[in-house]
Parts: sequence; C-alpha cells; structure tokens
Amino acid sequence: MSEPKSEQKTPARVSAREELEILIRARYPIIYVVSWEESRIERRLKEIANRRKKQLICWSVTTGLTTSGSMTASRQKGLADPVEALDSVIENKEPAIYLFKDFHPFTRQRDSNVAVVRKLREVAQALSDSYKTLVICSPIVEIAPELEKVVTVLDYPLPDAAAFDRLLARICEDVAAHAKLKISLTPEDRERIVQAALGLTLQEAENVFAKTIVTDGHLSAEDMSIVFSEKQQIIRKSGLLEYYESTTDIGDIGGLEQLKSWLQKRSLAFSEKAKQFGLPAPKGVLLVGVQGCGKSLCAKAVSRMWNMPLLRFDMGRMFASLVGSSEENIRRAISVAESIAPVVLWADEIDKAFAGSQGSANTDGGTTARVMGTFLTWLSEKQQPVFVLATANNISQLPPELLRKGRLDEIFFVDLPNAAERRQIFHIHLRKRNRDPKGFDLPALVLASEGFSGAEIEEAIISALYDVFYKGKELESVDVLEAIRETVPLSKTMAEGISALRAWADGRSRFASRRDDITNTELRRKLEM
Ligand code: ATP
Repeated sequence: MSEPKSEQKTPARVSAREELEILIRARYPIIYVVSWEESRIERRLKEIANRRKKQLICWSVTTGLTTSGSMTASRQKGLADPVEALDSVIENKEPAIYLFKDFHPFTRQRDSNVAVVRKLREVAQALSDSYKTLVICSPIVEIAPELEKVVTVLDYPLPDAAAFDRLLARICEDVAAHAKLKISLTPEDRERIVQAALGLTLQEAENVFAKTIVTDGHLSAEDMSIVFSEKQQIIRKSGLLEYYESTTDIGDIGGLEQLKSWLQKRSLAFSEKAKQFGLPAPKGVLLVGVQGCGKSLCAKAVSRMWNMPLLRFDMGRMFASLVGSSEENIRRAISVAESIAPVVLWADEIDKAFAGSQGSANTDGGTTARVMGTFLTWLSEKQQPVFVLATANNISQLPPELLRKGRLDEIFFVDLPNAAERRQIFHIHLRKRNRDPKGFDLPALVLASEGFSGAEIEEAIISALYDVFYKGKELESVDVLEAIRETVPLSKTMAEGISALRAWADGRSRFASRRDDITNTELRRKLEM
C-alpha cells in the first residue's frame, strides 16, 4: 500500500461537497471518498445524480447492487461479488453514479484482491469515456499501488455548523409535529449547541440531540454537557486522544523561567482582542529535554493558565498497535481537536512516534509514516486555534520537517535544574506535602542534589517521608539528604545521552531556564568548592 499520487487537496475556497460534484462533472472515473458518513455521502450523490439526470446505484458486500432508495426492490442478486459488480458497472450503458460502500477490504494490497484491483483498472479505463462514475466510500484509505494513478482520494470532512443548524431545525420540527413538544431556543443557545456538536458526525449529533430530548423533554444550552460527554466518547474511541483534567498551576513549576514567561506572554493571544490587534494565534512549541524535568508539567500548567481544555495525544501508541484505521483515526483526532478549539493539544513523546515511523514501510506497510505525514501537514496548514505542545526526550528520532520554522513557534530545551531551580523545586514539593521549607537546610539539599531532575527531587522527598513515617518521627533535612545519597540520578546513568542532548540543543533551541541563573549557579558552585 502506498499513498495515491492523485490525492486530492481540497482548494481553500472549494468545499469537499462541491469538489465531489466537480470531480464527477470532470468525469474522474474512480473517486475514493474518505468518510464515516455513508448516508451523508449517499444523500449528496443523490442530489448530484438528480441534477445531472443520472441514476444512483449503490453496492455493498451484503446487498449487492441496488438502486438507491429501494434497497430490496431492485437488488440484483449475485452481484455481491465485487468483480461481477464491477463488470456490471462497465456493461451498463446508462449515465450513472455508482456508490460502493466499505470497499476498502477489496482495494488494499493483498493476493486475494488481484482480480478486483485489475478490474478496477479496467473500470477506470472504461469510465473515462462514459457518463458513469464509481465512488468508493470508506472510513479508511487502503489502496494497492496499482491503483494509485487511477483513483482520486477526497477527504470528506465532518459536517460544518450550517449542517448541524439544519439538522437541529429538522429535529425541532419533528419533535413539534410528533411529540407535541415545543423546543424554543434563543439564537445564542442554538449557536452554542451547534458549536458544541462540531466534531460529531450527523448521525452522532442526531443521536445526542434525540437523547437529550428524550431525557428531559427539552433541548437547551444546558444540554451541552451531554454533547460534550458524547465527544469525550469519541475521543476515547479514537484511541489516540484523552481529556486531561489539569490541576497543575504555573506556580507548581520550579525554574524554567524563560519558558514560563514565553507561555505567560501568550496567555491572551487566542482572544478576539489579540486577533484584532493583529496577533497570529500561537501555533505550538516543542519541549526537548532530560526526563523528569517538567515538560509534562508545563503542558498541564499551560492549559490552566490559558483556560483552555487539554487533550493529550498519545503519540507513543501510534506505532504500537494502531495500524488498520490509524490514518482515519488521526484525521478524526485532529478534527475533534479542531472542533473544540481553542484547545491545547499535548503531543506527548512525539519522538517515540517518529521512531516508529522510521522503517515503518517494513513493519506496517508505511502506515505509521503516512500517519505522521498527515500530522506534519496539518501542523503547517492548520487554521484553527489548536496550540500544539509537543514533548520529546530523544532528538535523534525527530525529523527535520518537525523542526523547520513555521510548523511550531519555538523549540525549548529543558535541562536539569540548576541550583536556583532546585531550590524552588524543593520549596514546591515540601509545601505540597505540608512542610514549611523554612524548617529545612535548603542550601545543603540544593548542593547534595546536583544533577538531579525535578522528578528525582520529588522522589527523594517522598522516599524520606516513607522512612520517617515508618520510624514515627517528623521529616528533617537529614532524612531528605539520606534519600538523596541513596539515589543514583539519571544524569549519572545517562551522562552521555544528556551531553549529546545539550550539544544538539545549543544553537538550535532556546533554553527554558534563564541563562544568567545558570551562570550564577556555576559561579556559586566554584566558590563552594
Ligand atoms: P518525561 O520525559 O519522563 O515525561 P517530563 O520532563 O515530562 O519527563 P514531568 O513528567 O513533568 O517530567 O515531571 C515528573 C514530575 O516531577 C512532575 O509531576 C513534578 O512533580 C516533578 N517535577 C519535574 N520537574 C519539575 C519542576 N521543574 N518543578 C516542579 N516539579 C517538577
């Protein structure tokens, strides 16, 4: 399998809806529409067919060929076989649009599909000189290389606000007519419900609207929480995204002053006022650095600071097992993220995903590489206010395309905390555990923990707390110092890796910590020695 060369990019001003008609009128023989929404595509094709005075004939593996709108009446028995069905497409003399539903199992590269793939090439040849079009509708793109040049792929995005508005109007009319219930929505409520539904399919939205009406006999802006929980379901089902309820405050992060100030300066950048002021919405940031030094913490804190929901994008899982529908999944994940924008999309461990994409041609037919390609393209083209906060520990796996200017606003290097930062981290974590930092010998702790990450400092405090709790005494500096002595920090076990990371970061990224902090620390260390 490989990406068809002829992939159709929807031009900025032409919607996929219009594009479909244009392709049919331009007599593209085989159009592969990527969508979950079969019935929406069928309705659209019916409109086009009526306008162009053509028949719409549908095929599925269970029904064979049927004339649209009369599923059983005009079923042509025996044509459930895909090759025979395609033969019938070639033989039919009448102008027609054929809609083949869920045909992807037959178009993928597989020995058992040799005949279908060959027949599709013949269909393409025959149809280019006819008034017939073959439309394949499937949620997944699976195309054998032989078909690359004869199939045109069209991504059919999820419904827009206008489509949901029409759906809502229809539901309100139906409810009034049949259940004698009056749904009165103010224009503002209506807009809020429509906005909340963005990211759902029409079917899903219809279900959720119906559910809210059945539950309490009416539909109002308060019901948005149900719509929202429906979205959470989708997010969960996508397997790649999860809602993250952040309780982390920017004050919970010790050090990283440059990064924090960069983020703070952008906290109002998604507002209407900022837009009018001429500010572009921030695109995103990449945090590269040593493990356990607060990269994830920043992702959580930024969502709170900016008052935006946080979606964690599990990049690591992308190359683990998600092969089959992962291309569709990523498209869906992106469109769901866009639909709840402004949002912070936390692309965690992005290096792991790219590690999986290298050489993926050998392991999964290149799916992971294509998924990552989709993600990178979206990064550079995205219009919606989705702020991408990507984190990575290993830069050797990151492709240059990700680091190129334009995709993200900035790359920050998050190093091991310097002395001033370690002091703050001790402060934060002692406070968190209801201990007054003033009662501790912070200079001694700071000195002893040189080379420790924030996570290791936290661990040392927790480990000391276990010890003293067991001994039945209160926590003192000596206990924490003892725990520090017993820890072998990553900076020792991974010294080479960390030096390489620093060397890479120098000149390529901004430092998350203030450089003068580092210089001061170094000076002080010299004096202490
Ligand atoms: P990884 O690459 O392993 O995911 P990370 O850089 O994302 O590491 P975090 O998950 O943010 O590290 O850190 C782990 C924990 O260590 C945090 O939840 C926090 O409690 C503590 N910690 C790390 N750095 C800091 C810091 N700068 N200030 C306060 N706490 C910190």
